Amino acid sequence: MKNLRDILPGKVSTDAEELFCYGFDASSMEGPACAVVRPENSDDVSKASAFAFEHNISLIPRGAGTGMTSGAVPVKESVILSLESMNRIVEIDEKNLIAVVEPGVVNSQFQKALEQRGLFYPPDPASMDFCTLGGNVAENAGGPRAIKYGVTKDYVLGLEVILPDGKALITGVKTHKGVVGYDITKLMVGSEGTLATITKIFFKILPLPEEIMTLLCIFNDLDMAAEAVTKITGSKIIPRTLEFMDRETILAVESYKSIGLPKDAAALLLIETDGQPNSVSKDTEKIGAICTSLGAKVSVADDVFSRKRLWDARKAISPALYRISPSKINEDIVVPRSKIPEMLGLLRNIGQKFNVKIVNFGHAGDGNIHVNIMTDKNNVEEYQRAESAVKDIFEATLKLGGTISGEHGIGLTKAKYLSMELSPLSISLMKDIKKVFDPRGIMNPGKIFV
Ligand SMILES: Cc1cc2nc3c(=O)[nH]c(=O)nc-3n(C[C@H](O)[C@H](O)[C@H](O)COP(=O)(O)OP(=O)(O)OC[C@H]3O[C@@H](n4cnc5c(N)ncnc54)[C@H](O)[C@@H]3O)c2cc1C
Repeated sequence: MKNLRDILPGKVSTDAEELFCYGFDASSMEGPACAVVRPENSDDVSKASAFAFEHNISLIPRGAGTGMTSGAVPVKESVILSLESMNRIVEIDEKNLIAVVEPGVVNSQFQKALEQRGLFYPPDPASMDFCTLGGNVAENAGGPRAIKYGVTKDYVLGLEVILPDGKALITGVKTHKGVVGYDITKLMVGSEGTLATITKIFFKILPLPEEIMTLLCIFNDLDMAAEAVTKITGSKIIPRTLEFMDRETILAVESYKSIGLPKDAAALLLIETDGQPNSVSKDTEKIGAICTSLGAKVSVADDVFSRKRLWDARKAISPALYRISPSKINEDIVVPRSKIPEMLGLLRNIGQKFNVKIVNFGHAGDGNIHVNIMTDKNNVEEYQRAESAVKDIFEATLKLGGTISGEHGIGLTKAKYLSMELSPLSISLMKDIKKVFDPRGIMNPGKIFV
């Protein structure tokens, strides 16, 4: 790696501890890194990419490593391009409601900078305090607010990307509309670092909603909670969040953080409405009435402190689940909202069939259920049963008209299931597109496609 050090002095590390740490992500998988490069600007990214291209070395763009499908984990000796130092908010254009950021900006820092100006960027993955906007674009991340406001792709107007050979490309527009040529911006969103490295993002932003109300609805019957989700979305009210936790999730969170959630509940819904004060109170009342009619105990968190306490509970789910078992297989299926009750029933059956504990939570308003199969990787027999359950879960999801990933992407862990959802023609077209951008196959190899 001597040459790379010469090209980017002070920005390349081959320290064994760093190589180890940067070979991991939140999926708990690991792989071999041969150098970590920390570019400070687009030019540095160009130089690192041109080097990798010339020497035919794999290159992996990396944000904060919070990905759930091993997107940032190398499958062979790779240069890790860690965008963490490219963390400037370049511009907030209040008149045109557009912001320009570098990819290493942490999602919640962007949110805070906007809120101080009365502005709003809705996509709010539960990992928002750590994950980067570059990683969000590369995964097309969503979050609780997606039910009303959509996901990352709905806010990306344009990008600056560095192609694998080091050339810079500007895609899209810095206006709220634009239809000139193929939409390369949308192709980049969700491309999981397999086509190019994102070095700048032009975002659409919104005015901050005037009022927010948060409802906690506690059910002692899981089916009634699932029914409430479809009744609310069917009643022509679009809340800004409609989150779901089952009993196991509630118990795990309580034992991890002791927030005061009811330990005897079968499920809960965390629902928020936002907008003009009048409509917010009306919608909240209607939602409360629907949940009460289905037997829920409903309370309103009407101050910032109690609202934050509930969202802390929601954000604690992922680490809390490790209290149940040392490892988990985490899937993020989506079914049509109306099929949520049926899907929860099928998940129960699959858990029984394979004798595995399945814990569910998620963005129920989008039909996006985070299905966690709790297991111990060191127990080979149990782990195999858990993996067999995944196939059944995907089959059931697709039969109900759903999709195998709502927001975590395919990465490495789901690549072998891609053909369950996509036709051979789709996969072959996607592979041809990859070749156009990345003829030498150096960009994040082994991801999306087996
Ligand atoms: C506790 C927890 C909660 C989560 N909750 C949610 C949630 O609610 N919604 C959701 O959508 N996700 C969620 N995630 C998953 C994860 O946070 C998101 O996928 C996030 O977008 C990843 O961002 P990152 O910066 O960590 O990217 P990384 O994990 O570093 O990378 C993810 C992928 O993006 C690529 N990439 C990263 N930066 C760039 C770049 N600049 N250019 C090109 N490619 C790049 C990488 O190569 C990799 O393929 C959660 C994860 C955790 C651990």
